[in-house]
Amino acid sequence: MSAWRVVAALLIAVLAWGPRPAGANTPMPVVASFSILGDVVAQVGGERVAVSVLVGPGSDAHVVQVTPAQARQVAAARVVVSHGLGFEGWLPRLLKSAGFGGIDLRVADGTQALKPAGQGGHGHAHHHDVDPHTWQDVARVRSWLPRIAEALCRADAAGCDGYRQRATAYDGRLAALDAEIRAGWAAVPVAERKVITSHEAFGYYAAAYGVRFLAPQGVSTEAEPSARGVARLVRQIRAEGVRALFVESIADPRLIEQIGRETGVMPAGRLYSDSLSPPGGPAASYEALMRHNTQALQRALASPARKESKP
Ligand SMILES: [Zn+2]
Repeated sequence: MSAWRVVAALLIAVLAWGPRPAGANTPMPVVASFSILGDVVAQVGGERVAVSVLVGPGSDAHVVQVTPAQARQVAAARVVVSHGLGFEGWLPRLLKSAGFGGIDLRVADGTQALKPAGQGGHGHAHHHDVDPHTWQDVARVRSWLPRIAEALCRADAAGCDGYRQRATAYDGRLAALDAEIRAGWAAVPVAERKVITSHEAFGYYAAAYGVRFLAPQGVSTEAEPSARGVARLVRQIRAEGVRALFVESIADPRLIEQIGRETGVMPAGRLYSDSLSPPGGPAASYEALMRHNTQALQRALASPARKESKP
């Protein structure tokens, strides 16, 4: 039985009640498609909104098995905020089947998207001809904030001044974060800003902050890595003088260990691409995620303890 049949069956029960209007002291129900966006929406919404996230920390928002609980959240929401640019290919169908009649905001739709780098090496399939990971550039997220505030204003006019004020305050924090990231990179020579990741999720970070991310073909969590793919990765690390290797979605630690042995480039930690960490983790908010990734990258590239590659 497909997940959609389960959803359809449960929706009959959900729609029998329908969404209830929020009372004066009840936060407005708002749904965000994935954890990173959920944090951004909550920053703008403050205490007047209750943000539910469809794809929580540690889960993959590209490919989603919709649950009855998620369908109920959508049916009850006044506003659904998603990324757009094809990131959540599963969402339009969910909105339709849930009978969602509220405000459908796609924060990145209509913005200029990058093409995928095209080197291959996907940790999972991206069914797009555009790269949807725009949040890796802080300036892109800043551009979402007025749109989020206005969508919340349309659903809750009484809270509008507060939403706008919160959006402005948060924008100030993100501007400072963006400046902090740039200042950190200024200390790393451009020629040394080369890292390996498995998942092509950092194209916007690369474009905004001047770092090269290499994700060679054949290394994937979906397919078993081939010996040929690993050999190609090893050659590329040596040829490019890559100084840092990061795990993001390579599930097999033996592959990382093997690449480390063959190249002398040790895995330098974990980057958060498409999801926050759970609460208490190192990337529990969008700001913390960007700081964690940036500091992990800069530490790995600047570390005096790094292994120099032999000629
Ligand atoms: Zn992704």
